[in-house]
Amino acid sequence: MANNFIEQIIEKDIETGKVSSVQTRFPPEPNGYLHIGHAKSLCINFGIADKYNGKCYIRYDDTNPTKEDEEYVKAIEQDIQWLGFKWDGIRFASDYFDMMFDCAVELINKGLAFVCDCNAEEIKLNRGSLTQPGIESPYRNRSIKENLDLFMRMKNGEFTDGEKTLRAKIDMSSPNINMRDPVIYRVLHAHHHNTKGKWCIYPMYDFAHPIEDAVEGTTHSICTLEFEDHRPFYDWVIANCGHSHHKSKPQQIEFARLNITNMIMSKRFLKSLVNSKLVMGWDDPRLPTLCGIRRRGYPAEAIKDFCNRIGVVKSNSEVEESYLQSCVRDNLNVNCDRVMGILNPLKVVLTNLDEPILCQVENNPNATEVTTRNITLSKQIYIERSDFELVPPPKYYRLKPDGYVRLKGAYIIHCDSYLTDDKGEVTQVNCSIVPNSMSGNDNSGVKVKGVIQWVDSNNCVDLKVRKFGKLLIEDNQDLTLFERFNPASMTEVHGVGERCLRDAQVGDRFQFMRTGYFVLDQDSDENLLVFNEIVPLKDSFNK
Ligand code: ATP
Ligand code: MG
Repeated sequence: MANNFIEQIIEKDIETGKVSSVQTRFPPEPNGYLHIGHAKSLCINFGIADKYNGKCYIRYDDTNPTKEDEEYVKAIEQDIQWLGFKWDGIRFASDYFDMMFDCAVELINKGLAFVCDCNAEEIKLNRGSLTQPGIESPYRNRSIKENLDLFMRMKNGEFTDGEKTLRAKIDMSSPNINMRDPVIYRVLHAHHHNTKGKWCIYPMYDFAHPIEDAVEGTTHSICTLEFEDHRPFYDWVIANCGHSHHKSKPQQIEFARLNITNMIMSKRFLKSLVNSKLVMGWDDPRLPTLCGIRRRGYPAEAIKDFCNRIGVVKSNSEVEESYLQSCVRDNLNVNCDRVMGILNPLKVVLTNLDEPILCQVENNPNATEVTTRNITLSKQIYIERSDFELVPPPKYYRLKPDGYVRLKGAYIIHCDSYLTDDKGEVTQVNCSIVPNSMSGNDNSGVKVKGVIQWVDSNNCVDLKVRKFGKLLIEDNQDLTLFERFNPASMTEVHGVGERCLRDAQVGDRFQFMRTGYFVLDQDSDENLLVFNEIVPLKDSFNK
C-alpha cells in the first residue's frame, strides 16, 4: 500500500498502465560529499525502486566542470554503499554530451533555439520579474542558418567564456520566468573530469536533466520543491527534442527537502568549512555529511529509519535534531554492548580486597540472546568523579562519606575515608567491601539504592573521549556562518575503560554504562583509544 503521495502517484501510474516498470534515479552533482539531506532523497528513490520491483540509477549531474571532481564521485558511491543501497547502474550527464548537442541542433532546426550575444548581466536584466514581462533579445530572430553556424563556432572554440549562449526560444512574457528564453548552452573553456578537453561548451542543468531522464528510461524524476517552477521547462525539453533517443516520458515530482535544526547542509558551506581547517575534514563527526555521521557512529540503519519515520511531504519544514538522535538511540539500545568507561576518573582503594576476583556482567540486557563476560575487580579501581560527593544533595544514592553504594556487577562498598589535595579536591577514596554482598548472591543484609560503574585500574585502557556540541552558536546579530563557528563544538576528556575495549575495531560502538554511546575512532593507537560520543543516554526528544 502506498504510504506517501509519491507512491500514490506511482501506484496509479502502474494501475492505469501509464508505466509498466518503475525507474528512478539519484542525481548528485559531484561537487562535494553527500549529507543527510541526500540520505532522504536516496531513501525515496531507492525505496521506490525496491518497493515496486523497479530500477534506480546513480546519475552524476556533471555539467559544471569547474566545480566537479573525481574525489567526490568515489566518495558518493562509498556513502551510498554504506547506507546499503544497490544501484542498477551508474551514468554521467557527460555520457550524453554528444546527444545533448544533437538535441540543441534539433531545437535550432525547429526554430526553437537561438544564439544570443547578450552577456549574463544583460540576460538577467531583461528577464523581467514576477510582475513584469521580460524583454526579447535583439538576437532572437536570427535565421536558422545563422544560428547553426554560430552554434558550431561556439562548439569549435571561436568564442570566449560568456561571449555567446544558446537560448531556448519560448516566451519572454510567460508568467513562469523559467520559460523566458532560458539559456541551454554556454561557452566555458574548462577541463572536465570525464570528457577532459573535448568540449568548450556545456549544457545547462535544466536542459540536461530532462534529456538524461528520458534517455535512461526514468519514469519518475523525483526532486526537491525548488524545482517545481522548473517543471514546465522540463516538460518542454522532453516534448521538443531527442525523441529518437527517449526510452520514457518521465514525470517530475517534487517533495520538500529535509531540513534539520542546527544543521547546515549546503555543500558550499561545508566545503568552505573543510577548506578553512576549522574541522578535521569532510568526515568530521560534527558535520551532517554522511561520512561525518558515519564517523560519529550513527548507524546506517538508524539514518534510514529516521528518513522513513519523518515521511515524505510537500511543504517545507524543519525536523528537530533530537528526533534524529532519538532514532539513533533506539537503534543503539538494541544493538550495542555495554561496557564500563569512566570519563572523569577518581581513584578508589578497596582496603579489604587483597586478591583480585572475577565478576560476571551482562553484555547487553536488551539483546535477543543475553551473553556475559568476566571482568576483574582488584584493590584499586576508578569510579566517575561525579559519583562521589562530600556534601551530597538530598536523595543522592551514590558514594558519600560513611555511605554505601553498589559497584555494578560486584560488591556493595562502604566509604571509610578519603584524601584531598591542598586545594581540597578529593584525590582518593578508601572503601571496604561489605562481606557477602556480591551482586546476584547478596545476603549481606545491607540495602543500597545506587549502582555505579567502575573500572579496575590493573586491567584497563586509557581513553580519549570526544564530546560534541553545537557547530554554530546562536545568531543574534547577523553573523556570518564562519563567525558563528563554535570552537567548543568539540571537547576532549581523558578517561579509562575496561581492557576488553582494546579488541575493538574502528567503527565499533558501545554503551558506556550510565553515560552514553561511543564509537571507536580512526585516530586511535595502541596506547590510547579515541572514542567519539555518538549520543548521550538521556533522550531530550519529546515523543
Ligand atoms: P548544492 O548544495 O550544491 O545545491 P544539492 O544539495 O542540491 O547541492 P545535489 O548533488 O544536486 O545536491 O543533490 C542530489 C539530490 O539530492 C537531488 O535530487 C537533490 O534534490 C537531493 N537533495 C539535496 N539536498 C536535499 C535535502 N536536504 N533533502 C532532500 N533531498 C535533497
Ligand atoms: Mg543541486
